[in-house]
Amino acid sequence: MQILHPFSIPVQRYIEEIADVERYRPNHCPQCEARDPLTGHGFYSRTLVDLDFDGVIRVRRYLCNSCSRTTSLLPDLALPWLRFSISVIARFLVARLLSGLTLQAAARAAGQETMPYQRGQFGMRRFQKQAPALSLALAAWVAPPVAPDFVSRALRMLESLGWIAAHRFLFSRLRMHLLGWPASLAPHG
Ligand SMILES: [Zn+2]
Repeated sequence: MQILHPFSIPVQRYIEEIADVERYRPNHCPQCEARDPLTGHGFYSRTLVDLDFDGVIRVRRYLCNSCSRTTSLLPDLALPWLRFSISVIARFLVARLLSGLTLQAAARAAGQETMPYQRGQFGMRRFQKQAPALSLALAAWVAPPVAPDFVSRALRMLESLGWIAAHRFLFSRLRMHLLGWPASLAPHG
């Protein structure tokens, strides 16, 4: 299971802080009734492209000694299964879909001059497909603004809530992915 930690810090500090196993150790298992703190269980690595970072980060894993299941502590600045950080994705989508910039200009606005055209298209399509569900889910939290379509409505709601805060809410409470889960990875329940 993946849980989010609200690090709200730059990637570089995340990397330093995550080295300490105690620092964010969950004090109980999110997957069973056990009330004991979880045990450190190594890391897995993933790539991350943020506004001023492009490299590999480690993600802490913890183990529950009662149910033997692992829990990973994802930094909330990143989306599961996506290379780009939420800030990069937000800048790109707002520039392209709200401000109407070209794909190339939107990539530049997100600090990703060299982003392949297909990758941008792909991210946009995923967001467009996800926009109605996002608008609906976020309406529990912020009044939907008047907007010509679901895409601009969802973007405006994300802008007013803050993308990372919205991601925390969607992921932790609803197990929902900002850009939609790839079909093979959708969590059950
Ligand atoms: Zn457990």
